[in-house]
Amino acid sequence: MQSIAILGSTGSIGTQSLEVIAANQDQFCVTALAAYHNDILLEKQIEYFNPKIAVLVDKNAADRLTRRYSGSTIILTGEEGLLEAAIHENVNTVLTSLVGFAGLKPTLAAIKAGKHIALANKETLVAAGELVTQLAQDNHVKILPVDSEHSAIFQCLQGESRKKINRILLTASGGPFHGLKREELEHVTIEDCLRHPNWSMGKKITVDSSTLANKGLEVIEARWLFDVPYSQIEVVVHPQSIVHSMVEFVDGSVMAQLGKPDMRVPIQYALTYPERFATEYPKLDFKTLSALTFSAPDMVNFPILPLAFTAGNTGGTLPCVFNAANEEAVYAFLQGKIRYLDIFLVIRSVMESHKVTMMPDLNDICSADLWSRVQAQEILKAIK
Ligand code: MG
Repeated sequence: MQSIAILGSTGSIGTQSLEVIAANQDQFCVTALAAYHNDILLEKQIEYFNPKIAVLVDKNAADRLTRRYSGSTIILTGEEGLLEAAIHENVNTVLTSLVGFAGLKPTLAAIKAGKHIALANKETLVAAGELVTQLAQDNHVKILPVDSEHSAIFQCLQGESRKKINRILLTASGGPFHGLKREELEHVTIEDCLRHPNWSMGKKITVDSSTLANKGLEVIEARWLFDVPYSQIEVVVHPQSIVHSMVEFVDGSVMAQLGKPDMRVPIQYALTYPERFATEYPKLDFKTLSALTFSAPDMVNFPILPLAFTAGNTGGTLPCVFNAANEEAVYAFLQGKIRYLDIFLVIRSVMESHKVTMMPDLNDICSADLWSRVQAQEILKAIK
């Protein structure tokens, strides 16, 4: 029986992970659940899965739950609670689906405690790829990708040597604004962004997908997960989201992983690897698939993607700064404080004024993250 902790259990990935676990209760049990502030949903999850501990990072939310709840699960709060969930002695695998930089410290704690990581929090590898992958190696811990593209690449690489990779072809749906020009993007609203054509996801990642920042984060994530240089990672727009990514090998053979856009499949593979379990989820019907199309990403009208390549190629603290500036700008956009195209301006300007520290340790990364957020807030004030 595999014992699992889910950090971010009330979000989109968290709830789908619990669906996967509920469908395989003879294989998995839930030892710890952690959420930010959704006490109503967390309480339902506690009742169903009966974990040993449950965490609400937000103290008010934890107080609300503690007042109502009288069962045997221990309710914890704060960052300390999150860390306890990540290192609980009974846990084998920690599924990290927290949003943003907040996922870094609990992930590092889990790795140090020897837990395998099912990684849905890509910002962890973006901000601290070198540190996280080195620590995982030192602790003989596996980092298994949950992100659909990375799960696809990981599946294509089974039985293959990473030295034989020619290119990683990371597919992107292109988001709801694919094909639009800069002037047409000027008046894009929050509602427009949240209408993603293929995937149903949380708000932050949905905006990130529409700007291609998400793909930028995924390029950096792929670099660390598969240890390939950026020159061998290519983004390909594939609006149908059926091919979840591909690997081209040195002999010219291309392997692809295909499937319906359903996150439960990569989530399950990360939890069952190297095995595969049967699912009842809808399957592809090739007789009704009309076309699979591919094209180059529009780096001119969606300039956040080239910024991500710049951040990745420069390395050091710049990817962390890119991520933090993006997080701040996206939240400001979601609060109606800035326009859609300002997201790019904020990130670029923060990146331009950053003094990069190479080979950063955790302190350097945390300072760079904080510096970037303060800097982004300054720029946001000037925009208003
Ligand atoms: Mg993805």
